Amino acid sequence: MLLADQRRLLCEYGRRAAETGLVVGTAGNLSVREGDLVAVTPSGVPLDRLEPEACPIVDVAGHLVEGGLQPSSETPMHLAVYASGDARAVVHTHSTFGTVVASTMTELPPIHYTVLLLGGPVRVAEYATYGTPELAAGVRAALEGRTAALLANHGGVTVGADLAGAFEATRLLEWLCEVYVRARALGEPRVLTSEQLAAVAHRAFHPPVFPVREDLPAAPTRED
Ligand SMILES: [Zn+2]
Repeated sequence: MLLADQRRLLCEYGRRAAETGLVVGTAGNLSVREGDLVAVTPSGVPLDRLEPEACPIVDVAGHLVEGGLQPSSETPMHLAVYASGDARAVVHTHSTFGTVVASTMTELPPIHYTVLLLGGPVRVAEYATYGTPELAAGVRAALEGRTAALLANHGGVTVGADLAGAFEATRLLEWLCEVYVRARALGEPRVLTSEQLAAVAHRAFHPPVFPVREDLPAAPTRED
């Protein structure tokens, strides 16, 4: 079986996505790239009932290489993302708060600094019918310089160096969207300025150094 480890990971993260409520039923799809091959979740199978053998393998041009089931209908979007960057995994869901923001906004306003972990304010790709080249092109553009994008009236997509990274980005995207939606229920949220975001980015690259107290015995090392 080609990409056996990657197919097992698709099942593991597919199950986690279903268990954590990020996907409902057969909505959502995941993929992992290895060289010129991509393991992707199949069309029409709930993500919590996936088996590794059921996950098809396609090449980066979209030809079916192995697998009895049809690849997810969003496979063209996954392939477009791989073609335009160095992502090694893609996660797409119709998560609740992501879809709420994607149905009302053109960008997720940056009200929390952890949006920088996704590369900056998350763009909403223009609406296009699912599975079409138009949607794939819109998502590709919205992901420029980002690891997450929202799809108008549809859901969200994240990328990563591996499935764990892409999955964490999906969880963070959903959390940020939930915080925004809940904040809007209380009032008009304060949006961070580009200067405030730049200061956070600067601090991340220049973390504070805590001075060592020399009047105390040295902390034990792991070997002690
Ligand atoms: Zn979708």
